[in-house]
Order: sequence, then C-alpha cells, then structure tokens
Amino acid sequence: MNLWQLSPDALIKLMKEHQQKRAFVVTNPSTGELQASHPFLQSIVEALQADTRDYQEHQGMFFEIGVKSNHLLGTFIHRTIRGQGAGGVRLWHYQKLEDYIRDGLRLSRGMGQKCALAGLWWGGGKGVIARQEEKDYHDPILRQAIYQDYGHFLSGLKGCYVTAEDAGTTPEDMAHIFSTTRHTTCIPSQFGGSGNPSILTAAGVVVAIEAALEYLDLGTLEGKTIAMQGTGNVSYYMIAELLKRKVANIVGSDINVAAIEKVKYKYPTAPLNLQVVERGDNSILKENCDILIPNALGGSLDANTIPEIQAKVVCGAANNQLENPKQDAKLFPKGTLYVPDFLANRMGIVNCANEQYGIIENDPFISSHLEREMPTGIYQRCLEIFQRAKHSGRTPVEEAEQLADELSLEPHPIWGNRGQFIIDFLVQSGWTQFSRSSVGMPIVTLQHHE
Ligand code: NAD
Repeated sequence: MNLWQLSPDALIKLMKEHQQKRAFVVTNPSTGELQASHPFLQSIVEALQADTRDYQEHQGMFFEIGVKSNHLLGTFIHRTIRGQGAGGVRLWHYQKLEDYIRDGLRLSRGMGQKCALAGLWWGGGKGVIARQEEKDYHDPILRQAIYQDYGHFLSGLKGCYVTAEDAGTTPEDMAHIFSTTRHTTCIPSQFGGSGNPSILTAAGVVVAIEAALEYLDLGTLEGKTIAMQGTGNVSYYMIAELLKRKVANIVGSDINVAAIEKVKYKYPTAPLNLQVVERGDNSILKENCDILIPNALGGSLDANTIPEIQAKVVCGAANNQLENPKQDAKLFPKGTLYVPDFLANRMGIVNCANEQYGIIENDPFISSHLEREMPTGIYQRCLEIFQRAKHSGRTPVEEAEQLADELSLEPHPIWGNRGQFIIDFLVQSGWTQFSRSSVGMPIVTLQHHE
C-alpha cells in the first residue's frame, strides 16, 4: 500500500489495524539510513529515500493518534545541533499524507534556518496536526481534546521538540497544550508566556523590506504601493506599521471574509483595497506595485506566478513561499529582489523561543533584532545576504541557505546535540510501545485580564 498517496486518516486507520498508537521514521545518525518503527511505514521510507527536495536527512518524524481527539499528531525534527527543535504547531487540512509530511519536513528545516540566522540556540522543528473532513473546528471541546492530546504527545517526546503557535492554532489552543506538557513556548501571557508573536513578526518583516529598499537605493516606504496576500494576524499588525511609514496604498486579498472585515474595521479610513478571493486565486501576486508581501501560506510563489511579478521587492511573513526554492529563486524578473522568508520572518520565534528565561517589557534581547546596526539583526543580515549574492552571482535564497546551514551545524555551547540523544533514547526505549490513558487531563479555562 502506498501510504504517500493516501489521506492522513489512512495512516490512522493503518496504525489502528496494527494496534499501534505511535510510529516514527528516524535517520540513523551514524549511517544516514532511514529507520521506521514498523514495516507498514515502508512506502514512506521509500518515498523519502527517493526525494531530493524536502527530505534533508531530518533527524526524525514522530506520529501519534490523539487518545481523546483521534487526530493524527505529528512532529518533524530537522536538526538539533544548535538546540532542541523549535517551531510552531499547525492545524491544517491535507489531501494526502505526502502533503502533510512534506509540509512538516519543509517547515522544520525552515525553522532551523531561521533560528540559525537569528543567532538563537535552537534547532529546527515543527508540529503538524491533520484536520479531518466534516469536523467543526470552532467546537471548543474538540479543540481542547486535540491540543491536550498534542501536549501529551510532546511530553512523551521528552523535549526533543518544543512547540509554539502556528497557522490554525490560537492562544487558547496553546493554553491547552501547556496544560499537558512543559515542552511548549508561546503560551498566553496570563500563564507567564510571551503571548501573541504576530506583532513582532510584522515589525521584523517591515525591517527586512526597508533593508531591501536601502540595498536597491529606492528610499523609504513613504509613498510606496503595496500588494499583500493574506490579511490574517501578521497582516493585521503589519498594516499599522506600513501606514505609520506613510505608504501610498495597500491592495490585499484573503480567502476568508472575516479576516478582511476585521482589517477594514480596524483601519476604516486607511488607503486599503481588500478583496475576498477563491482559494487558488493568486492574481494579487501580479499586481502593479512597489512591494509584494506574501503573508498567507507557503507555496504561492512558483514557476507560474513568479515570472508575472511586477514588484521591485518581494518580502513577507509566510513560511516556505517558494514551491521549489532552488529553481524558483532563479525565476524572478530582473529588477525584482526576493527576500527569503526565513531571513525576514524570524521575530515570531525570537519573541517566544526564550520565554522560560523570563519576560521583560521592551526586552533588549528581542528588540535588538529590529535594530539597524545590530550585526545579526534582520537589517544587517539582509544586507549581508544581498551583498553575498551580488558578489557570487547566486540568488539570495542560495546565499541565505548556505549561511543558515553552516550556522545550524554550530553545537549548542552548553548542551551540544542533546536533541539527538533524546531521539536515540526514544527509539531504544520502545517509545511506540507506551500507551497512554485519556483519564486525568486537567481542564484549562483561559481568563482574559486586560
Ligand atoms: P493567519 O492564519 O492569521 O493568516 C493567514 C491568512 O492568509 C488567513 O487569513 C488566510 O485566510 C489567508 N490565506 C490563506 N490562503 C490564502 C490565499 N491563497 N490567498 C489569500 N489569502 C489566503 O496566519 P498569520 O499568523 O498571519 O501568519 C501568516 C503567515 O506567516 C503564515 O504562513 C505563518 O506560518 C507565517 N508566520 C507567522 C508568524 C507569526 O508570528 N504569526 C511568524 C512567522 C511566520
């Protein structure tokens, strides 16, 4: 059976047929060979072995069927040399298990690259939960079950991956995760966490845009025209930053009416032109504008959309914007500067990654990433990558990937590659055999204190 082409639910069914609640595929660190927990995962192993794009000797991927929610919970770990795998957990619909696994592989690598370029002592990880057909994801009971299950799953993984918020996951969901594991960041401020990361992510992307304008000698954001794909959390705050800098206008699109209405309500008199579009309608990308900001989900920039781009700068928050990074990065029209996503959108992870060290208002460890003079800050890192690309003739994507990969091989100064030890321990100690009962989960109600 070729699982790769089946739905994520087919893996749940197969695991249940084999009376399994847990499964994994790991890369043997000595031989580089893939090792699966069960023979029924062989088709996944073969697909990964044949893949030349997304599987990059990831250290491991772990799956569990949620005891209360019956959802497929996944964790993907690229590299833990700089520290435990860090990255948010995404709740999303995937047609095929291939899409689900590819998303986890790409996102976890991107997180490691982002952490390395930001100088954070964290590795690359990502959580992915597959949505199911005909479920009501507004139902608080269902969400509580899913995210408490996810916390239990992470407790079982013993800290090789530390989660955070991502697309489809809310602050309330993070509180549910926190009720069943300590291996999470990005928890609501009521529980001592760093809260909503989108405000800083928005600010960081704007700094990267300013670096690109400076590099191209195009002045400031004042008077510039903007096209923005996606008007969700990050865009909501980014629009304020752009308006503060007196952009001429912003054209935006979203597939969700509510997201657009929320922005319109917030900025009633701003020069905005926002439209609801069908999923798959990428016409916003060819808008005649100075700056194109991809703030929706990944993969919208590909061989079809890139050649039609008219913007001089492309820079946004979405992770994995390029469908095929190496090839697609070469397709941008002459005169268009593409800023790699993992170079620009670091502030979400910067905001939450070290929250266990305590919270300080206007924390200099965080705000320094936004400062123009800081050598490892967003502004200087962007200029460094653009200069490298100019001298080598390669694309900024290639240069940023190379630098990130080099930095991701620097071992954590205290803990070394502890993440790999944890993964080895899980594999050797029979992690898949352990079965958890659903009793005894605490109930968390999020209280809002303004
Ligand atoms: P979000 O889910 O709040 O917003 C994304 C918006 O894009 C949604 O409103 C959605 O309806 C819309 N969308 C999806 N597909 C679309 C399409 N084809 N066309 C137009 N709109 C579409 O997410 P967010 O928190 O605003 O994050 C935006 C992106 O930035 C995501 O890719 C996320 O992974 C990435 N990111 C976010 C943060 C953060 O701090 N929130 C940090 C780093 C990276």
